[in-house]
Amino acid sequence: MHVEHCDLLIIGGGPAGLVAARDAARSDRTLSIIVLERDDAVGRPVRCGEGVGAAGLSEFLDPGPPNSLAPWISRRIRRVVFRAPNGDEVRVAEGDVGYILDRTRFEPALAAQALYAGADVRTRAEALAMKRDGERWTVAVDASGGRGEIRARIVIGADGVESAVGRWAGLDTRVRARDMESCAQYVVDDATIDADAIVLHFGDRVAPGGYAWVFPKGTRSANVGLGILGLRAGGRSAVAWLDDYVARHFPNASVSSRTVGGVIVSATMAHTVADGLVLCGDAAHMINPLSGGGIVNAMKSGRLAAETTVAALRSGNTSASALESYHARWMRLLGDDHVRFYRVKEALARFDDASFDKLAGTVNRIPEPRRTLRRIFGEALVRHPTLLPVVAKYFA
Ligand SMILES: Cc1cc2nc3c(=O)[nH]c(=O)nc-3n(C[C@H](O)[C@H](O)[C@H](O)COP(=O)(O)OP(=O)(O)OC[C@H]3O[C@@H](n4cnc5c(N)ncnc54)[C@H](O)[C@@H]3O)c2cc1C
Repeated sequence: MHVEHCDLLIIGGGPAGLVAARDAARSDRTLSIIVLERDDAVGRPVRCGEGVGAAGLSEFLDPGPPNSLAPWISRRIRRVVFRAPNGDEVRVAEGDVGYILDRTRFEPALAAQALYAGADVRTRAEALAMKRDGERWTVAVDASGGRGEIRARIVIGADGVESAVGRWAGLDTRVRARDMESCAQYVVDDATIDADAIVLHFGDRVAPGGYAWVFPKGTRSANVGLGILGLRAGGRSAVAWLDDYVARHFPNASVSSRTVGGVIVSATMAHTVADGLVLCGDAAHMINPLSGGGIVNAMKSGRLAAETTVAALRSGNTSASALESYHARWMRLLGDDHVRFYRVKEALARFDDASFDKLAGTVNRIPEPRRTLRRIFGEALVRHPTLLPVVAKYFA
């Protein structure tokens, strides 16, 4: 059997794993770094709405000026529109809000940077199992050249929502059914799509426990999808809800590229490190539980994972206690916010459609240029005291 050795083995070639590889390789070119991606190519298949905030993205890759955007951007977004259950629209932002990526090109761009920095990014290479041998992990790998083993001083688990790496390392990766959203998404071609805006549509008859989204990819095409909480979906699948949504809102559209996937909407796992192991991105449940967005979070955690593991490799101490600073730094950066967002999500789950409709009406009475989040919050509290428990829970 073919046996290889490396300093850092990264399992998963999504945003988390590729940023971890790139940043670790850039900070120490003497380290041997391997990334394993089981799919035929990084970035495919796409199971994502591909929306990212402008500020978060720019920390990792330069999107370029508006008149000459990077090839991995599908669309620049200048407006956010919330749609209440009754169809009323609330516009809450104007300006450079964010982008819709083309992940079939975005991940290759990150992979190219990781390769250039010295990491070895391998596709069609799947980690099958992992066991601890003294100070190293031995990982069984199925790659195009056959089966083999890689012995690594540190493993970064960046293997996404269906992660097995954490479980192999003995971490508790379980997710409660109420914290798992089922999503479905189609690429929809329709002349009515607003190419500059993302639309988020709420309501129990739209997407129970979640929301529907319309994220433009071109001047008349968009990722149209929704996420639902299975426990509240009346036994119907996300695909069935999406078929209804598309039929109602895009009756003349043509539909292509159908995908389904899960999103973990809980707070971060209690433990994200073990001896010689760090988990990041979706594998560590680092998605924003309120929005379901995880691309930028994955990259931020990948960066922290790179910094922590490179320091541990240099010091020669790769124990869990040496890596624990990763978890603490993540919690300070975003993890503690996610605990609060989770409480807001729980409180909003008790908000019915009529309350959302009333709230939309209130917010729409604020002149658009003055519609900041703080003002929306203040007005909403004065006019809808039933929101108070939501706010109390947020700050508790
Ligand atoms: C329908 C849907 C819509 C979404 N929309 C958005 C959005 O608009 N904006 C946003 O920010 N987030 C969105 N998300 C969430 C976002 O896709 C994830 O949070 C993000 O991709 C997480 O990045 P990651 O690197 O942690 O994991 P992933 O991107 O899932 O990457 C993990 C990689 O690991 C590989 N892998 C898994 N197991 C192994 C193994 N054993 N060996 C080798 N490779 C392995 C997988 O093939 C995969 O390529 C959406 C999710 C879904 C399902």
